[in-house]
Amino acid sequence: MFVDSHCHLNYKGLVEQERGVLERARAAGVGAMLNISTRENEWDAVIGLAEREQGVWASVGIHPHEADQHGEITSEKLIEKSRNSRVIGIGETGLDYYYDYSDREQQKACFHQHIIAARETGLPIIVHTRDAEEDTAQILREEMERGAYPGVIHCFTASAEFARIALDLGLYISLSGIVTFKNAKDLQDIAKTIPENRLLIETDSPFLAPVPHRGKTCEPAFVSNTAQFLADLKNVPVEELAEKSTENFFNLFSKASRDG
Ligand SMILES: [Zn+2]
Ligand SMILES: [Zn+2]
Repeated sequence: MFVDSHCHLNYKGLVEQERGVLERARAAGVGAMLNISTRENEWDAVIGLAEREQGVWASVGIHPHEADQHGEITSEKLIEKSRNSRVIGIGETGLDYYYDYSDREQQKACFHQHIIAARETGLPIIVHTRDAEEDTAQILREEMERGAYPGVIHCFTASAEFARIALDLGLYISLSGIVTFKNAKDLQDIAKTIPENRLLIETDSPFLAPVPHRGKTCEPAFVSNTAQFLADLKNVPVEELAEKSTENFFNLFSKASRDG
């Protein structure tokens, strides 16, 4: 069994072909998918799909790109929405200085609210970070000192040093199809060093289709390709990598269950 720890089933490209996407995922052995939300007006649709579909789970959060549009977001609001039995994580949240679509101070404020919600609920935080390693590390550390919270760095593309910091804080690291790209040598080297009990895999679909699907709309079924690539890279059977990363997912996202 594979788990897609991060996908956007409600995004254009996937939402129009929901049935086919879910069928192909299940046929490929993907037994669980975490459908991630990025805006408040998306929460009900993301949760609704998780309520209807076996093996589909939901998160509530505000993407850093959307932080400017959600000036009023509070940890209370996230906590309240997370009470739904299908909501197993808080996010995605974090900092994105590559696109800088939202004011950086607002991104940080929003990020803090998510971490507070993660700590209060015990639900893992799903962290997005791009070109913002230093500030991301600082906030993660500072908040950890205020009280522990679980979490994952999703679609990891940062440095070896940032990986070390995240692991030292007890966080998990999730790798997307980017690791299969030819020009991703540095990331492949980092992937080899991630402890086997802290590794998750994801598609971040509809984006970032892994080799050999590059150029296509990415979908959860393709997480099996990333798993195969990582198994080859680490020199272990794909079944072992699949089982281990699945176990890690349910250890971290402990509100979810294998048969739920
Ligand atoms: Zn992201
Ligand atoms: Zn995402």
